[in-house]
Amino acid sequence: MQYDIVIAGGGMVGLALAALLGQQDRRVAVLESICPVDIAPDADFDLRVSAISRVSQRLLASIGAWDKVLKRRACAYETMVVWDSTGDGKISFKAAELGEPDLGHIVENRVLQAALQEALKDYPTVELCCPVRITQIQRSADSIQVHLGDERILNTALLVGADGARSYVREWAGFTLTTEDYGQQGLVCTVQTSLPHQATAWQRFMPTGPLAFLPLSKPDFSSIVWTLPADKADELRSWEGVRFKQALADALDYQLGDILHCGVRASFPLRGQHSQTYVQERIALVGDAAHTIHPLAGQGVNLGFKDALALAESLLGARDLGGLRALRGYERARRGDNQLTQKAMEGFKLLFGNDLTPWQVLRNQGLNALNQLPAFKYRLARQAMGL
Ligand SMILES: Cc1cc2nc3c(=O)[nH]c(=O)nc-3n(C[C@H](O)[C@H](O)[C@H](O)COP(=O)(O)OP(=O)(O)OC[C@H]3O[C@@H](n4cnc5c(N)ncnc54)[C@H](O)[C@@H]3O)c2cc1C
Repeated sequence: MQYDIVIAGGGMVGLALAALLGQQDRRVAVLESICPVDIAPDADFDLRVSAISRVSQRLLASIGAWDKVLKRRACAYETMVVWDSTGDGKISFKAAELGEPDLGHIVENRVLQAALQEALKDYPTVELCCPVRITQIQRSADSIQVHLGDERILNTALLVGADGARSYVREWAGFTLTTEDYGQQGLVCTVQTSLPHQATAWQRFMPTGPLAFLPLSKPDFSSIVWTLPADKADELRSWEGVRFKQALADALDYQLGDILHCGVRASFPLRGQHSQTYVQERIALVGDAAHTIHPLAGQGVNLGFKDALALAESLLGARDLGGLRALRGYERARRGDNQLTQKAMEGFKLLFGNDLTPWQVLRNQGLNALNQLPAFKYRLARQAMGL
């Protein structure tokens, strides 16, 4: 079976890339090992959510997926409040003051995947193969063969690894990976609060790590990401409900009142990874396969969408899709930006994780000073929105 491009991984980034390539009438196969189930309107909220920036929203609209997200469910957030638990430092961002309708949207990962899958139906040259298992990959001078568990062999000019942080394609091709274990876990769960979230993303920085409450499409439901030292996350995950809810409300300083209900809890080890290169002859990596960053500013999948766009642009009109000439353009366009964002997140983590008094004073004063400088503050906000 002959394809222009085979994408391993039908997560949010792989599916978006497939649609972008479908717009170029490329013959594309997306290989996904787990078929995601579409979300029913009254289903429980997905444990995993993403803060989708304005620039990602535009990309999703351009491939016909954004209306399919909104048709399901998403929450536009109009305000973001960030404060420091060790002092009075506080900063808030308001969409209205930026002249924007919102600062971004909180979207469940399953909603995004389902919307993207539905959008792909409008691209006849794109085929989603799901569930499939890659058993073997072979590379020759001018093509790659991908062997599947059902005996099919796919022949392609370019294989893209969009298969997440533990990428099989990256491992198989032998890309060198820089890894930094943050020694933390992100504890996630959906909660119901006694006060409405007010379309606001709340983030409180504590010396142990930040706690974020991200608003969902029901006014009293939020998705939390609580960054904690790994052993503490394990401990809190095992606490019985009443104790956990009390600790959580306390950690958010009761900004949303009491926690009435708390769903299933899960935690993810937090690790920064960056592949030293993104491309080889006939191979490219995108999204979490190429880089993972600290989730404290919710930028991970937004970087992945930018990768997808840059790769599709570098392949536009390329005669040899897997040739290094086209692929290096993609790597040049994206690696620096991803590295800068990764380092910035690590800088924030260090700054807010430091409990020495001079640092506490500095960052509390810094937050308040920044809050008083609208021009600078809103430049930062526009940057985070990708505008
Ligand atoms: C706690 C936490 C909170 C986060 N919050 C945010 C946020 O608010 N905003 C944000 O932008 N980002 C956030 N992120 C990061 C974000 O979730 C990731 O950046 C994003 O999921 C990456 O998408 P991806 O498509 O590259 O990879 P993935 O989402 O990992 O998708 C990879 C896909 O490949 C498939 N796959 C894997 N191996 C194979 C194989 N061998 N064959 C076939 N298919 C395969 C998998 O089944 C999966 O569907 C957060 C991360 C964490 C841990």
